[in-house]
Amino acid sequence: MSATVYDKNNIFARILRGEIPCSKVFENDDVLAFHDIHPQAPVHVLVIPKGEYVTFGDFVAAAPATTVAAFFQAVGTLASTLGVIDSGYRIVSNNGTGGGQEVPHFHVHLKGGKGAVA
Ligand code: AMP
Repeated sequence: MSATVYDKNNIFARILRGEIPCSKVFENDDVLAFHDIHPQAPVHVLVIPKGEYVTFGDFVAAAPATTVAAFFQAVGTLASTLGVIDSGYRIVSNNGTGGGQEVPHFHVHLKGGKGAVA
């Protein structure tokens, strides 16, 4: 499987460079998390790796295992700190145009709170 060419000017790349603001929830060396600009649930946060990966497939194929682990550990920690464990939550990643992916930088949607599962 070959990696997709990464567009360095996609909107999440611009957020990572600080060119566009975001409503930041969490950040460490590997990960940035921020509120989705069009929330579809009471809690709707996007979690993105800082590296340049277009899709989930690119990420797990090319990122170091420690980076993949750090990413998913951050998603799990965020579910707890955002307070959605009791309400329940979804983690969703859209991949490719056929998969509904609009922004070509790998990301996970973390959606929780009352009404998160429609
Ligand atoms: P996807 O369809 O999985 O690529 O989802 C992209 C998501 O990014 C959508 O839910 C958008 O609402 C969200 N989005 C787009 N631009 C921004 C932005 N500047 N800040 C926060 N979220 C954004």
